[in-house]
Amino acid sequence: MRQHLSCFVVDDCVAIDAGSLAMATTSKQKNLIRDVILTHAHLDHIAGLPLFIDDLFASLEVPIRVFATNEVIEVIERDIFNWDIYPSFSELANQNGAVLEYHPFETGKEFSVKHLRVKSVEVNHKVPTVGFIISDNKTSFAISSDTSEMNEFWETVNAEKNLAALFIECAFPNELDELAQVSHHLTPKKLLKELNKFDRKNCPIYVMNIKPMYFEEVVRQVKELGIENLEILEVGKIYEL
Ligand SMILES: [Zn+2]
Repeated sequence: MRQHLSCFVVDDCVAIDAGSLAMATTSKQKNLIRDVILTHAHLDHIAGLPLFIDDLFASLEVPIRVFATNEVIEVIERDIFNWDIYPSFSELANQNGAVLEYHPFETGKEFSVKHLRVKSVEVNHKVPTVGFIISDNKTSFAISSDTSEMNEFWETVNAEKNLAALFIECAFPNELDELAQVSHHLTPKKLLKELNKFDRKNCPIYVMNIKPMYFEEVVRQVKELGIENLEILEVGKIYEL
């Protein structure tokens, strides 16, 4: 089973995380995506960003706008766009101007990205990480990013009126509870505990970010939870909300 690096494209034009941004997007999406919202700076969530900017460098008419917390921006500036790992694109320009522009947001505050309203909420991962509730004013969805046990996320999600889907991680099988604990990820058992805090019992739930090595085991254990409206997120599939 394939498991891509995390990257969700909303309405063909806004990316949430950039794991496979350069590798898995269509040419239409490459032409339209100029806004990238990051949950955290782990490599599987940002790996495609430097390559995406590089691939489009000469043709960009507007910069790639990266929305992230200051902590995340500091890490990618220090550890990725530092001339050693990759060029510092924020210092470079093409014939049209800047190619990379940062838009820091404060955790918990709402901001707009194109036609979308984005609410960020702190989740519980090894590094500073946020989940999002994203809305186009008609419908909304929530995405946990990488996380372990959460409270604030559920309060925010439960207060959202038009929630059409919840995307939540489940990285490791139950046997690797200790590893899940130290790396701040969920197992099916922990996922069940989390979903008990979710008060929208009929909302479709999609499980994502399963570690490829344990994919089948995690899927089996998640199915054994017997949650009717829960599905495993399929890589490359288009979801209409
Ligand atoms: Zn992570």
